[in-house]
Amino acid sequence: MSALHVAIAGGGLAGLAAGCVLGDAGFRVTLVEKRPFVGGRASSYEHPGTGEVVDNCQHVLLGCCTNLIDLYRRIGVEDKVRWYDRLHFIEPGGRRSEISPSWLPPPFHLAPSFLKASSLALGDKLAIARAMMSVAVRLPLDTGETFMQWLKRHGQTERAIERFWKVVLVSALNEDLERMSVYYAAQVFREAFLKSPEGGRMGVPRVPLAELYGAAAEYIRRRGGEVRLRTSVESFRAQPAGVRLSVNGTEMACDFAVLAVPFDALGRMLPQSAAAGPLGEMLARFETSPIAGIHLWFDREITELDHAVLLDRTLQWMFHKSRLLDRGGPSYLELVVSSSKALVEKPRAEIIEMAVRELGEFFSVAREAKLVKATVIKEVHATYSALPGSDAYRPTAATGWPRVFLAGDWTRTGWPATMEGAVRSGYLAAEAVAQAAGKRAGFVVGDLAAKGLMRIGSL
Ligand SMILES: Cc1cc2nc3c(=O)[nH]c(=O)nc-3n(C[C@H](O)[C@H](O)[C@H](O)COP(=O)(O)OP(=O)(O)OC[C@H]3O[C@@H](n4cnc5c(N)ncnc54)[C@H](O)[C@@H]3O)c2cc1C
Repeated sequence: MSALHVAIAGGGLAGLAAGCVLGDAGFRVTLVEKRPFVGGRASSYEHPGTGEVVDNCQHVLLGCCTNLIDLYRRIGVEDKVRWYDRLHFIEPGGRRSEISPSWLPPPFHLAPSFLKASSLALGDKLAIARAMMSVAVRLPLDTGETFMQWLKRHGQTERAIERFWKVVLVSALNEDLERMSVYYAAQVFREAFLKSPEGGRMGVPRVPLAELYGAAAEYIRRRGGEVRLRTSVESFRAQPAGVRLSVNGTEMACDFAVLAVPFDALGRMLPQSAAAGPLGEMLARFETSPIAGIHLWFDREITELDHAVLLDRTLQWMFHKSRLLDRGGPSYLELVVSSSKALVEKPRAEIIEMAVRELGEFFSVAREAKLVKATVIKEVHATYSALPGSDAYRPTAATGWPRVFLAGDWTRTGWPATMEGAVRSGYLAAEAVAQAAGKRAGFVVGDLAAKGLMRIGSL
């Protein structure tokens, strides 16, 4: 009997993840990607202005990203991620604090380094500890409240908000605290900071993103699948015994389709049918938020750190790319600003000037160093916004068409827009395909087990 044929639209992490596990489960996979490379919003390319291979933006993961790590293992790239237990927080002027786990049981494992942190006063720390305990005891539900309202209601000081909650969560959820769902803020925080030391480890790729995710395309090909680049799915027609896709103007027939494209691209693909109506209405409700990456090449080494959180300024994170990619030599840095709404309209030269000036406040060497080249990569619609109430319009993998399934970081995965969310969505869609085909398949990996006191009851 010939293998059932699954067409996947979109070669981002969601489509790749679905393709890999479906290939493993014996399906014949054809993955169709519009661009000349896979990886979608997590990709790298040769930047025309600088001649350098750059990631569209630095991507980091956490130990709690169980499905993403499973994908890395599956495709054989897990050794291309470097793990860190220690985060460095730097104030303008250069004073540093470190957060790292201790021998204390979760949720108290970070407490000793947190108590020593000079960036926060005792009152800020006590306020944060109270809020942390509240999240440790019970994950708050999405009641429509924003996380900022929740923080104010839980007595957080201005400094605790600016120097702790904002730096941690604005980068994790890519949204302002004033627009962020309480549930997703608390969920990410609990997985990363409270449940276990492993969950909070930060993983940074040691290779350009194209190398990580190119391996997924190879994996699909090795299992008899096809990956077609520079090819677009324009529309689809669901039929009782299969699906017909319009692909670069020609028709492709398949048994099942996984549409793993961004929500706006899906909106353009929907047929004019009754089943499309409610989905179209859900897609119309999504909002997005931007991220900016500022890439600077200097003539000398700026710092001995691989990465750091930068406090009280526009810049939020510093990634020392030349060290992370084992390139050595003078410093190539990427400075990341999440939820970068204020930078969207700013000219690139102005952003670079701001970045160099601010960098000098954190690392004195940057004031004397010569800037050799620089570029700014603005992703204006980087991720969907995890607004309060957003789960109401995040669709599940199943659709009104029994042989058509959805994937993408914006679908209802229980995670915000992250690589983990994208891979989870791909695994969920693949499970739904397998089930529709009458096969038993469990691809989704559970969350990391809680450790220490977090194992007790609702903790
Ligand atoms: C600047 C930036 C920084 C980020 N930083 C992090 C981070 O540090 N950590 C983290 O976990 N996450 C981060 N993310 C989020 C992460 O990149 C995304 O959540 C994830 O990559 C989304 O994957 P996806 O497959 O759902 O969507 P996409 O990556 O958008 O993939 C969809 C694919 O569909 C293709 N496509 C569109 N239309 C068609 C069509 N008609 N036919 C065929 N193909 C089509 C697109 O070209 C694309 O390749 C960041 C995102 C951005 C933009």
